Amino acid sequence: MMLRELATAGSGAKTLQSVCTAAANTLNPHDIPFALFYQVNSEGNWAELVAASGLTPDSAAVFPTVLLSSNDSEWRLNEVFQSRKPLLLTDVAERFGVLPVEPWPERPHSAFILPILSNNKEQVECLLVAGISPRLQFNSEYRSFLELVAQQVESSIATARSYEQERQRAEALAELDRAKTTFFSNVSHEFRTPLTLMLSPAEDALCDRDDPLSPHQRQRLEVVQRNGLRLLKLVNTLLDFSRIESDRISAVYEPTDLATFTAELASVFRSAIEKASLRLVVDCPPLAEPIYVDRQMREKIVLNLLSNAFKFTFTGEITVCLHQVGDGVELAVKDTGIGIPPAEIPHLFERFHRVKGAQGRTFEGSGIGLALVQELVKLHGGTVQVSSALGEGSCFRVSIPTGCAHLPPERIEATRTMTSTAMGAAPYVEEALQWLPQESKGAAEEQTTPLDDSDPPQPPYPPNPPLVSYALLTSFLTKQNSDGVRICRNSLIFRNTDVG
Ligand code: ADP
Repeated sequence: MMLRELATAGSGAKTLQSVCTAAANTLNPHDIPFALFYQVNSEGNWAELVAASGLTPDSAAVFPTVLLSSNDSEWRLNEVFQSRKPLLLTDVAERFGVLPVEPWPERPHSAFILPILSNNKEQVECLLVAGISPRLQFNSEYRSFLELVAQQVESSIATARSYEQERQRAEALAELDRAKTTFFSNVSHEFRTPLTLMLSPAEDALCDRDDPLSPHQRQRLEVVQRNGLRLLKLVNTLLDFSRIESDRISAVYEPTDLATFTAELASVFRSAIEKASLRLVVDCPPLAEPIYVDRQMREKIVLNLLSNAFKFTFTGEITVCLHQVGDGVELAVKDTGIGIPPAEIPHLFERFHRVKGAQGRTFEGSGIGLALVQELVKLHGGTVQVSSALGEGSCFRVSIPTGCAHLPPERIEATRTMTSTAMGAAPYVEEALQWLPQESKGAAEEQTTPLDDSDPPQPPYPPNPPLVSYALLTSFLTKQNSDGVRICRNSLIFRNTDVG
């Protein structure tokens, strides 16, 4: 009975010390009137008392530490440590005088000292001094019983050790993760500065009415701008992640007319969706109250879901609905696209997870869009769910509570202190337009003048043309100055990594 209790008591213990304490508290004093548990240090020269029962620290028999290298150590622990064999000590009274232990009026005169070995049996972890009951004979049964006690403690210590190793491994991984987060954060900042410095002169040149670009130059610069923005969007997403991971993201929740906000966001995708011969259905009736959201985050949630719906839908329609459901508001972005295999659904919101072989409008993608959506939804105290049927379509539902009781009060209508990573809807739509076959890109693309005769012949675009074609790159590389070359190489590297 006591052994079972001992096993139960030790099973939850997470350190050697707590295993020994649990064991000491469980030992029945009628069978074992006193017990001392000594932990052996890693060098094997000291043993330290970590738990005791029956004897108080002021007893002459209790030593806080015992030198194991001494030839005549107290309780002869050194001998048991060296030999790794139990030892019966029959001169307890001679050594330490009368021991004031209960429950019997007679005092124990003997003790059995047992080694408790490590899991791999290579070292002595602990030494157990077990007092022999003055009312029991030390026969083979009693001895086996004490050995079973030691074995039970041994296996509980092994469990505690593996728990400890697991904890250390988890800590090492967490440390690695922290280092990765810091790296991502630093790298994102490093990328953002040159990207912004590249993008602003490109935009200046494209918008300069006093010194307009030739159509040919404009077309080239638009390629630079588009890809720069795309890269910036990706870098911003990485920065969002590193901020979320390091708990440095600070949302600003503002009461918002979410129906209008959602409908407006959806409508910026309308032209791209219609150019792809799809229908956009927006069903966002006015809500009874303003909803507290971080608008920049909410924008990313809606745009990521819409952009995915567009990427993976070739016929039919995309529906964006927003309704009050119970104490919350539910956004549903529904498509009639390729659908998602059931086995993939549980992994969909994992970072960098992409569905293998999914036939979208493009191979582009990094697998972080949905993971970011989930993190941003969590920051609103909400949930995101997906239902899907292969070949029929998918529906992503984002629910967030109404009111603001669930939000940190200091972040409500607070001032933004961090550099914004929001870029608005334009880069999403621009990107989506690039996924359309050449002939459906529409007015914006039709207005651009074809490259002049002096340019090398362009290969026909594949149905889903990459953003930067090799031919276009070659023409850049041969004609641009060194800065231009650097821009092209960035685009090329980005594209290759992306496809790979
Ligand atoms: P990315 O789109 O950059 O690959 P996401 O995290 O946004 O990354 O999406 C992860 C994967 O989930 C996608 O690669 C795609 O396979 C799948 N997916 C997401 N949205 C849809 C959708 N509406 N229809 C079908 N598959 C989708």
